[in-house]
Amino acid sequence: MRGRRTPSPTSPPGTSRSSRSGGGRWPVAADRHPDVLVVGGGVIGLATAAALLERDPHRSVTVLERDFIGRGASMYPGAIDMPYFRTALHRQLVEASWAWHEARARETAAYRREVPMTWFVDAEIDLPSHVAPPLTSGARGIPPGWRAPEGVREVVGRSFVIDPEAWCQALAQEVTRSGRGQVVEHTPVVALDEDARGATVKCADGRTYSAGHVVLALGPWLPDWNERTRAWSANLGLRTKRVFGLNIAVDESLRANAAVGWPGADMYFHPAHGGGGYRLSLRHDEWGVDPDAPHEMADVVIERASGFLDLLLGKGRWSVSGHRVFVDSYTHEFEPVIAPCRALGERVTVATGTHGSGIRLAPGIAELTARTVLSSLDQKRGVA
Ligand SMILES: Cc1cc2nc3c(=O)[nH]c(=O)nc-3n(C[C@H](O)[C@H](O)[C@H](O)COP(=O)(O)OP(=O)(O)OC[C@H]3O[C@@H](n4cnc5c(N)ncnc54)[C@H](O)[C@@H]3O)c2cc1C
Repeated sequence: MRGRRTPSPTSPPGTSRSSRSGGGRWPVAADRHPDVLVVGGGVIGLATAAALLERDPHRSVTVLERDFIGRGASMYPGAIDMPYFRTALHRQLVEASWAWHEARARETAAYRREVPMTWFVDAEIDLPSHVAPPLTSGARGIPPGWRAPEGVREVVGRSFVIDPEAWCQALAQEVTRSGRGQVVEHTPVVALDEDARGATVKCADGRTYSAGHVVLALGPWLPDWNERTRAWSANLGLRTKRVFGLNIAVDESLRANAAVGWPGADMYFHPAHGGGGYRLSLRHDEWGVDPDAPHEMADVVIERASGFLDLLLGKGRWSVSGHRVFVDSYTHEFEPVIAPCRALGERVTVATGTHGSGIRLAPGIAELTARTVLSSLDQKRGVA
């Protein structure tokens, strides 16, 4: 497995997160033999742990995180939670994710809030085939003073903004509050072995944990530890890509609780969860990126962002107040991977391939991963 990462120089400016690198808020687990081990304490690993504990009231789960929870890709998003999908699986994940949040409405209010979203629709996009309802055509969604690009239709729908750090903390609390779940930080996993009784992971400090099943939720750290796992990853088309986000300050007179999405240009602009700032995400492809490498903003991203924001808000009415650059995992089909990894063993499931949408799809991915894992555990019990 790869060595320990140094913190990225592009940590979100103005956040307290890097100061948490001492971490260790969660007590060290005594249970080294849980039913399921989840390696990776990002939003996918934590939501999977919560889903496993909720679905099966008799199972125990331990999450092992090499740094502190939410320190990977989950630290960087803006983060927009919009009901955009590309495929039938995507749509299923979007719907399951919104249902998850709705079922936890009281807890969710602390880290997720609603923002009306105006979609800019180019002629060639059939919006209802890509965005879950409700959608209202003909309504004016963007606030006074904002301008739509020429030639697009405006359609108004729903979206939410999320505070990813607060959500990761809430998920970790949900795991530990169950009494059957534990979160262990600062514990890099360096090896994984399997025998007839279960899977055993070895940590950098020499400790071992064994379980009936292991979930690898490593985000952009792909499971490419040996020839066989590299072949497994390549076969699924798994690879990494840089993801770029800008923090934007907007003139007071133009501030409003409003988001815009322009799928044709791959631009998404929305308020941050807390405070008066805005976030802009836009696509710029840099493939095969090592998450442990330094990550820098690209000039071309700033130029495209400027063109869009000059048009939307007007020249001189906005400024860049910071940026967020990191890496996510992708597949050719832009679909998440939730799959057994036989290259590592019969009792290993990988959940990754979140393609810049892991925050909004996490509950759906977690539910599917939990179902896969529990059915594998049940099968193994049937065989034993
Ligand atoms: C700039 C930017 C903007 C984004 N905006 C959005 C957005 O608006 N909406 C949205 O839905 N998504 C967005 N995303 C994508 C989202 O952040 C990711 O899809 C999501 O965080 C992936 O979560 P994860 O749990 O898979 O990965 P991670 O959060 O990276 O979690 C993986 C964890 O595994 C740990 N780990 C790795 N190796 C080991 C090991 N050997 N042992 C133990 N632990 C290990 C890591 O430390 C890490 O904490 C954005 C991403 C970026 C970079």
